[in-house]
Amino acid sequence: MAVQTVASTTDSAVDLGPAAALSCRECGHRVPLGPVFACEECFGPLEIAYDFSAYDTEELRKRIEAGPANIWRYAPLLPVPADVATKPNMNPGWTKLVKADNLARELGVTGGLYVKDDSGNPTHSFKDRVVAQAVEAARAFGYTTLSCSSTGNLAGAVGAAAARAGLRSCVFIPHDLEQGKVVMAAIYGGELVGIEGNYDDVNRFCSELIGDSAGESWGFVNVNLRPYYAEGSKTLAYEICEQLGWRIPDQLVIPIASGSQLTKIDKGLQELIKLGLVEDRPYKIFGAQAEGCSPVSVAYKAGHDVVRPQKPNTIAKSLAIGNPADGPYVLDIARRTGGAVEDVTDEQVVDAIKLLARTEGIFAETAGGVTVGVTKKLIENGLIDPAKSVVVLNTGDGLKTLDAVAGTGLTATIRPNLESFREAGLA
Ligand SMILES: *Cc1c(COP(=O)(O)O)cnc(C)c1O
Ligand SMILES: [Zn+2]
Repeated sequence: MAVQTVASTTDSAVDLGPAAALSCRECGHRVPLGPVFACEECFGPLEIAYDFSAYDTEELRKRIEAGPANIWRYAPLLPVPADVATKPNMNPGWTKLVKADNLARELGVTGGLYVKDDSGNPTHSFKDRVVAQAVEAARAFGYTTLSCSSTGNLAGAVGAAAARAGLRSCVFIPHDLEQGKVVMAAIYGGELVGIEGNYDDVNRFCSELIGDSAGESWGFVNVNLRPYYAEGSKTLAYEICEQLGWRIPDQLVIPIASGSQLTKIDKGLQELIKLGLVEDRPYKIFGAQAEGCSPVSVAYKAGHDVVRPQKPNTIAKSLAIGNPADGPYVLDIARRTGGAVEDVTDEQVVDAIKLLARTEGIFAETAGGVTVGVTKKLIENGLIDPAKSVVVLNTGDGLKTLDAVAGTGLTATIRPNLESFREAGLA
């Protein structure tokens, strides 16, 4: 097998736009941009440090507003080269922010309720946002094979993005995922491997693979490219604020799998404040989990700083990470902003999927049932203020998790005549 040359961590010649270096979230140690994810000093997670110093607020705002109707309008704030929009990629983002007045009425929200509907992305989940950043990093570091450990949606997003970018893909999922996700992941022609185990087993396997000659020359979007990948979630924060007229909502309800999305939405909001693009006002971040995989929620309620791993057992498979890497940071953010972390049962997830569909015409996957269900619960227990604005994330498409709502179907079966129609009581 041909060995690829991968840029070393000391190669500062890579052009990833405003990304200046990697810096450790724990100790602040800085290293040049490279395909590394853990601090050599303290093993803390590395994240992108930017140089935004050259930006003038109003010029930046104009440049963004004149940009394409996808995440690349925010290219000046992402670890991507300036000409990113001209390259073959999936162009995700700029999904609808739906003013959910019917749902607001049902839940008693008077301050404005919105659903950020990320089922509208190219592979029908929010994962296209993060994978798009990883593809640029893979290009910059010379990788020709993309890989990942996935709870389902990521595998599809990687398969599609690799196909478009002309890269090979080989992705790993738990063997027992929903058929919709398996087909979505396989259809783009890459290799799809089912692992006999849960996501945490898949993830452990990938960590082993990356240390082996078989995987060392691969770009794992959520392992060695994770610092770049993770930044894609900031675009949710940017879009929500821009779509609200450059305003931060009072309250956001965000699903938690590894916790990466939630922490980067907070990072995105902080950047908008520092850049002067939005007014610096308080906001509360709420994390949402399914009871059958609720390690962060359990830690939050117990007042703990550490997250005890769980063995997941829930229909919300896209969120079924029992040992979430960013769990402690999620706890920090929920506590610092005055939010909370809450969980709902699988039954409440299904009820919430149906509630959202019936009120707003949005068919969410189980992760969307988790956020809507948690929103309802947090309003009921007084932690979300219904007189203030709320943005709820729907991060995936219900067509991928049809099993969750099996039994939903025909109102009646009739013979093709009026008599039969009347007999059915529908006239
Ligand atoms: C991956 C995923 C998330 C969030 O995952 P994090 O690991 O917490 O960033 C949310 N919703 C869906 C549908 C997902 O697939
Ligand atoms: Zn460190």
